[in-house]
Amino acid sequence: MKFWQEEIETASREQIAQWQSERLVNTVKRVYEKVPYYRQKMEEAGVTPDDIKSVDDISKLPFTCKQDLRDTYPYGLFACDMDEVVRVHASSGTTGKQIVVGYTKNDLDIWDDICARQLAAVGADKSSKIHVSYGYGLFTGGFGFHGGATKMGAMAIPVSSGNTARQITILQDFGSEVLCCTPSYAMYIAETMEKMGVDTSKLPLKAGIFGAEPWTQEMRLQLEEKLGIKAYDVYGLTEIMGPGVAYECSEQTGMHVNEDHFIIEALDPDTGLPVPDGQPGEIVFSCITKEAFPILRYRTRDIAVLSHEKCSCGRTFVKMSKPMGRTDDMLIIRGVNVFPSQIETVLLNMGYSPNYQILVDRVNNLDTIQVQVEMSDKMFSDTVTEISKAEHAIEEGLKSLLGVAADVKLVAPNTIARSEGKAKRVVDNRKK
Ligand code: ADP
Ligand code: ZN
Repeated sequence: MKFWQEEIETASREQIAQWQSERLVNTVKRVYEKVPYYRQKMEEAGVTPDDIKSVDDISKLPFTCKQDLRDTYPYGLFACDMDEVVRVHASSGTTGKQIVVGYTKNDLDIWDDICARQLAAVGADKSSKIHVSYGYGLFTGGFGFHGGATKMGAMAIPVSSGNTARQITILQDFGSEVLCCTPSYAMYIAETMEKMGVDTSKLPLKAGIFGAEPWTQEMRLQLEEKLGIKAYDVYGLTEIMGPGVAYECSEQTGMHVNEDHFIIEALDPDTGLPVPDGQPGEIVFSCITKEAFPILRYRTRDIAVLSHEKCSCGRTFVKMSKPMGRTDDMLIIRGVNVFPSQIETVLLNMGYSPNYQILVDRVNNLDTIQVQVEMSDKMFSDTVTEISKAEHAIEEGLKSLLGVAADVKLVAPNTIARSEGKAKRVVDNRKK
């Protein structure tokens, strides 16, 4: 199977624009009537639902940001009767107090569909076995793919995250064909299998659907090699739906945004004006089919690039690149903007392990950055001089790519904490 809903996924651009216009107009009317908070924000911006006639009017609407969700915690932005809500989820709270979102039956049905679109795009069908190692709970990851697999009629294996030895037994015994988890957890599973001497080429595993955190192309290649699979990217966030907001196709060159349900904009974070295709911008989403939590113009703080170029897979939805990170993950080191994913690229290109951590501090009013990366077991027996030579080489590599001097420290194997969910790459002591 290649498509889950082929007619929708390959609809003409005119058709997509028509869906978006109708659905946006309706959603704006509904939130204006039902959610006092939105009505007030629209009044402050001097807009009424009558001003929104098509998708082209979207820029008239005010933005919504994380703070708005905190101010209305827990249910203040819900746009349906509370007895229509059949599920809530909450963000993992990576960046502050958790936020709460809700779903009606219809919302869950749509969520299942968009996750099924991702599963179909990686080649899964009714006969497939889907191993879900995203956490089940308030986090959206586990239930999202579970629902997609179930709706497709595939077999869901709801392992949830953690207990890596058990994950591996299940991968070996249950016939898992598609693994869904964070890329850092996939790497941890791969590493553990390597240590246990598991021959991954003997496993029926064919594809991985990895998302929920930034990861690089270099990491993708390593995961594909270590696990003997194709590794696909999936993007999502709690505020909009959960995983499946954008999904990667067989081309592996960016993720198609489910534009029949979400309108995407890429904006200059300072001016709020659109940036052209190919240029990095802050991603802003509007939900146009959701009943319980139809957020409008939500500023994700994720930086990515859009492409409307025709994709050879046949899908017509716009593609977004792998986000390079959030604006709030971006480190400003002595005035230079640095994304952790750029550091990952350098380390992996030079053949180092994806187990690294970035420590930032301020000493005598000067930002300092130290990158700790694990050495291989083999390297661990090298002489001190050899190790410091290697550290120096990485420092040079970072300097030439980032334009900023970082101190590099090679640390003993297995000393950097592994993650069963999202990896914690940065420790910024300047914020203390
Ligand atoms: P939290 O804000 O608590 O981390 P979420 O679990 O909803 O909540 O995380 C959503 C965020 O995760 C996105 O805004 C984005 O920054 C990141 N993310 C999700 N998928 C990807 C991906 N494929 N690549 C890079 N970052 C991603
Ligand atoms: Zn495609």
